[in-house]
Amino acid sequence: KPVVKSDIEIAQQSFMKPITEVAESIGLHEDDLELFGKYKAKLSTDALKKLDAKKSGKIILVTSINPTPAGEGKSTVTVGLGDAFTKIGKKAIIAMREPSLGPTMGVKGGATGGGFSQVLPMEDINLHFTGDLHAITTANNALAAFIDNHLQQGNELGIDQRRIVWKRALDMNDRALRKVVIGLGGPMQGVPREDGFDITVASEIMAVLCLSTDLQDLKKRLGQMVIAYNYNKQPVTVEDLGVQGALTMLLKEAVKPNLVQTIEHTPAFIHGGPFANIAHGCNSVIATKTASKLADFVVTEGGFGADLGAEKFLHIKARSAGIKPEAVVIVATIRALKMHGGVPKTDLGREDVQALTVGFANLKKHIETIESFGLPYVVAVNKFITDTDQEVRTLIDLCDQGNIPVSLTEVWEKGGEGGVDLANKLLEVIDKKESNFQPLYDLSESLENKILTIAQKVYGAEKVEFSSKAKKQLKDFDSFGWSHLPICMAKTQYSLSDDPTKLGRPTGFTITIREFKPSIGAGFIVALTGDVMTMPGLPKLPAALRMDVDENGNAIGLF
Ligand code: ADP
Repeated sequence: KPVVKSDIEIAQQSFMKPITEVAESIGLHEDDLELFGKYKAKLSTDALKKLDAKKSGKIILVTSINPTPAGEGKSTVTVGLGDAFTKIGKKAIIAMREPSLGPTMGVKGGATGGGFSQVLPMEDINLHFTGDLHAITTANNALAAFIDNHLQQGNELGIDQRRIVWKRALDMNDRALRKVVIGLGGPMQGVPREDGFDITVASEIMAVLCLSTDLQDLKKRLGQMVIAYNYNKQPVTVEDLGVQGALTMLLKEAVKPNLVQTIEHTPAFIHGGPFANIAHGCNSVIATKTASKLADFVVTEGGFGADLGAEKFLHIKARSAGIKPEAVVIVATIRALKMHGGVPKTDLGREDVQALTVGFANLKKHIETIESFGLPYVVAVNKFITDTDQEVRTLIDLCDQGNIPVSLTEVWEKGGEGGVDLANKLLEVIDKKESNFQPLYDLSESLENKILTIAQKVYGAEKVEFSSKAKKQLKDFDSFGWSHLPICMAKTQYSLSDDPTKLGRPTGFTITIREFKPSIGAGFIVALTGDVMTMPGLPKLPAALRMDVDENGNAIGLF
């Protein structure tokens, strides 16, 4: 059995160039950077302004089939593809999300790619990085404090304290804080009320920061966030409280994109990391746009599978930012396809060509979805050492028979070299078929219709049902003037349906919308299909149990 090094061991044994040198490779000078030590930097406001007028490079979106709990290697392929472009002489930049400490301590471990396709310094990025998440946490909680102070000081806005929707936030999985009572202890200690905590990446401020195009846009969006409803059941916003300026000030550094490098020194912007259920799940618009001004190819990703991450990238992020992706990479793994074909999670190590063939239906659905958006694509089979030759051949044959462009990708094992074929195939499809990107719904349609379109065209559902609460909310939203916003679906990532146990390509199912959550600052209406966790818990054996530092202060066990 070959010895497999852990991600962190590979990362720590890799050589990093000074970030100034990495920046030079894309035409940025030391003056354009705000350095955080030797290997991390933010781009200065002046540098960002200077780039505004430049022409944009091509944007490649990386998405996947419905994942299994372990993740299918989207980040790994994103990083490896960036390195592969560099390897074949193209100027490439990667744009990815910042990891959250909650999942890192919980089950998932780091979120900086894997094997020989990682961004560095891996431990810094996975831990406190440049402090963006802490700034967002602070802004979130400052707003909570302003709201409670407003109640304490006489409540001029007539905020109904039972209808405050703004919660406190923490960048940790801490289920004990999901529901709390605050303000206990008498008149000097505030107004008692029920409150709760969300994980920072679920805060609307994270989504706002990621969709803002600049500081002024950030301020405008922060002002539009709904914090509560008053006694007349009308929305109360941050602007009503008058604290959008203060919140913007707290975020003025966090809004600048962070520059780091891959193991092979391809530049990478790691910036912003909204949840992919309650929010849209992509890195910041500022990072993607900045990268596109500096490179010929930007490789970026959307969270979860194509039914969620890509759909939201295309309908929310791309539309609001005026970004037009050139092509899509759909990552699939043989293990996940076997699971979609009925193999239990514990048996995925066993060869099963039959199950793989059945599970292929899931990949096929996502391909059809990407085609319906008018986008060229290549399927990237993220190869695991446990995949058998017979399985690999079967999957490639299935693609060939359907005329589906496919590439066997070995970036985890080999870095950029393992993705050269994928990069070349992308160049081929881009050359052959121009991106004809078209959203599937129009913003002027009703919110119900937008949901129906997503459910039928992206998930393959038969119909959509709305709870009585959801129906009432739709009427209210119409009266508040929110019907023109896009939809942000909150649905299980494991299935195309809203039932995580329905794997493969289910048909004839109904999507049930339980409730809506307006994110007016971010600029979307979240449609909740089931219980959505906005404050995860830790598992019985959290990843934290394996973590430590050595005598030199290096992290151990960060995956
Ligand atoms: P996603 O972005 O889909 O959540 P990641 O790229 O973060 O997935 O990968 C999840 C984990 O799986 C990482 O620890 C990574 O090292 C591992 N991984 C990804 N691809 C492979 C592969 N081909 N072989 C072995 N492990 C892999």
